Amino acid sequence: MGLIKRISGPLVIAKEMLGSNMYDVVKVGKSRLIGEIIQLRGDNAVIQVYEDTTGLRPGEPVETTSLPLSVELGPGLLGMIYDGIQRPLETLEKKSGSFIGKGIEAFALDRKKKWHFTPEKNIKKGMQVHEGMILGFVQETPTFKHYILLPKGAKGKLSMIKSGSFTIEEKIAELDNNGKKSPITMMQRRSVRYASKIKRKFKSEEPLVTGQRVIDTLFPIAKGGTAAVPGPFGAGKTVIQHSLAKYSDSDVVVYIGCGERGNEMTEILSEFPELKDPKTARPLMERTILIANTSNMPVAAREASIYTGITIAEYIRDMGYNISIMADSTSRWAEAMREISARLEEMPGEEGYPAYLSKRLAEYYERSGSVESLGGKRGSITLIGAVSPPGGDISEPVSQGTLRVVKTFWSLDASLASSKHFPSINWLNSYSLYLDILEPWYIKNVGEEFVSDKKQAMQLLQRESELKDIVQLVGEDALPESERIVLIIGRMLREDYLRQNAYDEIDAYTTMKKQAGMLNAMLLFSKLASKAVSNGVKVEKIAAMKIRTDISRLKTVKEQDFGAALKKTTLGISAEFNALEKDELGSELKQEKQKVN
Ligand code: ADP
Ligand code: MG
Repeated sequence: MGLIKRISGPLVIAKEMLGSNMYDVVKVGKSRLIGEIIQLRGDNAVIQVYEDTTGLRPGEPVETTSLPLSVELGPGLLGMIYDGIQRPLETLEKKSGSFIGKGIEAFALDRKKKWHFTPEKNIKKGMQVHEGMILGFVQETPTFKHYILLPKGAKGKLSMIKSGSFTIEEKIAELDNNGKKSPITMMQRRSVRYASKIKRKFKSEEPLVTGQRVIDTLFPIAKGGTAAVPGPFGAGKTVIQHSLAKYSDSDVVVYIGCGERGNEMTEILSEFPELKDPKTARPLMERTILIANTSNMPVAAREASIYTGITIAEYIRDMGYNISIMADSTSRWAEAMREISARLEEMPGEEGYPAYLSKRLAEYYERSGSVESLGGKRGSITLIGAVSPPGGDISEPVSQGTLRVVKTFWSLDASLASSKHFPSINWLNSYSLYLDILEPWYIKNVGEEFVSDKKQAMQLLQRESELKDIVQLVGEDALPESERIVLIIGRMLREDYLRQNAYDEIDAYTTMKKQAGMLNAMLLFSKLASKAVSNGVKVEKIAAMKIRTDISRLKTVKEQDFGAALKKTTLGISAEFNALEKDELGSELKQEKQKVN
């Protein structure tokens, strides 16, 4: 037991701490605030405290638990809403009202609830087992099988295993390691500061299908991949992460609200429980775990929330699931690091951030990936982080540190946002390094035509941008008709395809099949428009075509009506171009006749 020597914001220096270890969790002061040792200097320990330290006094006791900062894992995780150190917000609120009291201990998982445990068929008494192996499962929700994995360090002969209803603390099995018996329960703890062990990593060849057209079509992310969403305030970072949490084809989503305003988290808390998972039609919360550490909560817990989230994700991945994890925003996490580092009086790096900022960012993103777990299951963690650079200038350290490690860059653009083009992902400077590796998946699952369509769409958008620069200088009339068509198509792609309203029930999510159909209709229009122009049809006439309204409405056609709507639109496109060209031919003939007369 030590004593508080000095208090500096979220940091406490304690003396007489010999015998404690780095990363031990400690109880600080009379109110037993939760903290973690982050430095040892002689018999002094520097402690980062996860609760408000006002009111603490030097001389108050500090007690070490000799346990590292860890999370509790087991049945009951799904649907939970935690703070940065995995205390369930609901229990905290029950214990102390909406202002969280101090030193409150709350179990992350329900201790009383019974779950039905079924051993796996291939697991037999007497067999040799090891860490990470799957013993059996609990059907946690109608769609989620919660596999029970042997905890870290487990090794030996399975001397007992039973099926039946148990709480997470009751013994379901027993290991015998050369006579040393150890009980196995359905709950385990993992230290949050270290990545969980895996057998090996794969290169993922399957995209995370998000239902967001600009992402799935132009800048896809692989399952197990990494993406950064940088953008200034109001650019749509939170909305896009919410959309991904709602609609992406992940088995489980861990959403970390990290240091952003409380009302954004409130939106999730009130909205998500109402929503249904489009894949299973079950309540969305059944596949979601929320971690809330908003700007009004202690800064050190914000630092921890990122690790709490990723450790929970690793545990679920090890069962063989595809998890995505969103952090909004990693910049606030970095700011927490900066504040703590400054109080530690460490040598500041660029813009006051600690010199180890990029290392921490890289280590975090490194915990993503598509893996084979120790239990032989294949699962993945897709990592998506929002970055909120001050003023939107991505030359700052957090953006740069992130961009060095992520493979997808969805660049949110203030000017697009202000012209209400959402998602404001700038198609000219965003990128995905997964395009090539995912191509076979797209060919197989969506079709060869879609793959060539999306390349063509990107070329048209790039060409449109070049032409717009020229138009700025010399005016549109100076362009040949064939290029003025590109301006029309570019605009169609931007407004009717890339723009997607997150608040429209239908438009919020587009299946791959519908994306392919919409894009194909637009490119058919493009092809026929070029042909018509070369046959002498005036661009003005093409711009005024009625079928364009049908094309722009495709995005709000319900999935079940889409096939018919697409057919009608496609036929309509051909018919209207035919009519235009006939007219053109007619008037040419008329002119010829007049000349002859
Ligand atoms: P940020 O998190 O980058 O500060 P938000 O995600 O909160 O920005 O977005 C700001 C506002 O922009 C939202 O409140 C919403 O009105 C609008 N918006 C963002 N994305 C979309 C979208 N996909 N569809 C419709 N509106 C959007
Ligand atoms: Mg936001």
